[in-house]
Amino acid sequence: MFDSSNKDLGLMFKEFLNTTPGFVAVIDSRARVRFISRSLAEWMGLSSPRYAVNRPILDLCNSIEMKMMFQDTMESQGGVERYFELFINGKMHYLMMRSAKIAERAGARIFELTDITPITEAKIEAEIATKAKAEFLANMSHEIRTPMNAIIGMTELLMMKPLEREQLHHAVSVKSASMALLNIINDILDFSKIDSQKMEIVNAPTDFATLINDTINMISVKTMSEETAFIIDIANDIPPIINIDELRLKQTLINLLNNAVKFTQKGFVSLEVWAERFDGELELHFVIKDTGIGIKERDMARLFGAFYRFDSQRNKNIVGTGLGLSIARSFIDLMGGRISVESEYGKGSTFSFYIPCDGANIGRQKLPPSLTELEEPGKYKALVYEPKAINARAAEKVFERLGVDCVVLENLSDFKKAFSPAPDGFSHVFFDKSAERIINDYLQKKDMYTFMSQEAGGLSYFDKLIENNAEYILVKDTNQPITATFTVNYINRPLFIVNIARILTGAGLQDTVSPEKESVKLGEFSTKDVCVLLVDDNPVNLMVAEGMLNEYGIRVVTAAGGSEGIELASKNNYDIIFMDHMMPVVDGIEATQTIRSMGGIMPIVALSANAVSGARELFLEAGMDDFLSKPILIKELHDILLKYIPRGKINRGG
Ligand code: ADP
Repeated sequence: MFDSSNKDLGLMFKEFLNTTPGFVAVIDSRARVRFISRSLAEWMGLSSPRYAVNRPILDLCNSIEMKMMFQDTMESQGGVERYFELFINGKMHYLMMRSAKIAERAGARIFELTDITPITEAKIEAEIATKAKAEFLANMSHEIRTPMNAIIGMTELLMMKPLEREQLHHAVSVKSASMALLNIINDILDFSKIDSQKMEIVNAPTDFATLINDTINMISVKTMSEETAFIIDIANDIPPIINIDELRLKQTLINLLNNAVKFTQKGFVSLEVWAERFDGELELHFVIKDTGIGIKERDMARLFGAFYRFDSQRNKNIVGTGLGLSIARSFIDLMGGRISVESEYGKGSTFSFYIPCDGANIGRQKLPPSLTELEEPGKYKALVYEPKAINARAAEKVFERLGVDCVVLENLSDFKKAFSPAPDGFSHVFFDKSAERIINDYLQKKDMYTFMSQEAGGLSYFDKLIENNAEYILVKDTNQPITATFTVNYINRPLFIVNIARILTGAGLQDTVSPEKESVKLGEFSTKDVCVLLVDDNPVNLMVAEGMLNEYGIRVVTAAGGSEGIELASKNNYDIIFMDHMMPVVDGIEATQTIRSMGGIMPIVALSANAVSGARELFLEAGMDDFLSKPILIKELHDILLKYIPRGKINRGG
């Protein structure tokens, strides 16, 4: 029990000030100490609190810095909170000083000093550690990436040699494992870049159809269970060229789609894209949906956080770093968009995001407003056989979006009926592999009757069969080999509206590797007395390119940078100079200009991983003769060599 008289209150207050963790002092209007807590007296090096009473506080300070701290605080008006760094007894002290005027007593003041050295030191240490961690990760990723590229490059070189089946199988395994590892490393690198705020978004005009094609190609080569379908629905009113960071958008899509595939055993994974326009502003919307394991309600809040992986028991065998979603969210944030997720545990998940971007208004006014357009959609009629209902619905949607009439069948016997006698009225027949026999039989029959009809001068009953000139297109999964015994065009699932339009108009597919492209073999011809100069700052690239050129019997001189390249070119004569574009100090453009200004006339071919439109013009303007994209494709290398090596130095067929 206490007496509420002033005296008791004062005692209690003093007791409180003596025990509070802050160091406290009260001064009067002449800056003399009226009260000082034991802790502050001790901290200031005074023999006792009593000694301090009635003395000016500034006289009690044992260093100029301490004096200035009190003086500074006393000069301020009203209540203040200030931070000071004092060097005391050879050690840095971090202090927080709070002070207020005492209202009833003019000029009187109360100070509370808190030594925040331990917290500040911990904070500084944590900051240093975080920075060191980010730098370490960035460096390590680089250190790991270089040898990884060597492993992949060398394995590719190995795969180009004639190998036995088993050897090839091993090489393919090495390559795919290395690629998987490289993906993880790239995730870590991206994450550390984002973490240290060094990630930049670089928007550039991008061909949207190519972006989608690349993305779906990456996903459709993944091993999915037989029972999972991958379908897409891409609206057609998206501008063909959009201003976007292609790499980051692609990575975001791949991360989300990869997860969907990883966590789905049955059902489907889908990608839906459409555009929305507001007063000339364009917004691209993406929805990635799966019928996989779903995410528990309690995990949703941490879903986009780094390093989190859920349901570890169930997902034991699913590889991942826990960085994918965190990276995707950061990219979307940086691109000015937003991501959201809905999921039902056990049923599946839907990730939706949008990004603002500008489409048509990038200076090329004449662009059509849609991804693809058929001039006369009424000219075409498609018969489609897709045995899986989900694929059948996706096909219907594509043709509907194109305005093309179509009949989609899911049942093989229904499809067979269309061939007795012929798929009349259809311009294109799209069929799943399981209908290959029906088509083969029909085409053979057609050949036979055409022959018989010619012999007999017309067989009216079979006219329909003979006259039918539909085109046949095999619809297959990316990993499925083509085994058809008849000549057939093909398209990979998932059906992409742009690719279907290309097939209908006979434009073929830009991005599928044609068998002709693959049939060129490394070292198909040999050369004599050919010497080339290879300039690249990356030793792995040098090794890979040198290995490829050696197959043609070409002698290769290498230079590790622009300056070395210039020096070699000024002293020697080379049949071709292969010049990397991006090099530190002296880049490929500058090196070429210098070589040309010194009178060098040998062919110079740019090597660049930068295949954006306009790159070729840039190289030609700089005085280069041609351009070879990295990674180097055999067919392209082959063409370049034939173009620039003098005829007399080439041995064909050897
Ligand atoms: P990672 O896939 O490398 O583990 P992510 O950051 O991409 O890392 O994902 C974090 C976790 O979120 C995953 O480990 C998984 O538990 C959960 N998750 C992400 N996407 C899905 C999905 N589509 N379905 C179910 N769970 C998912």
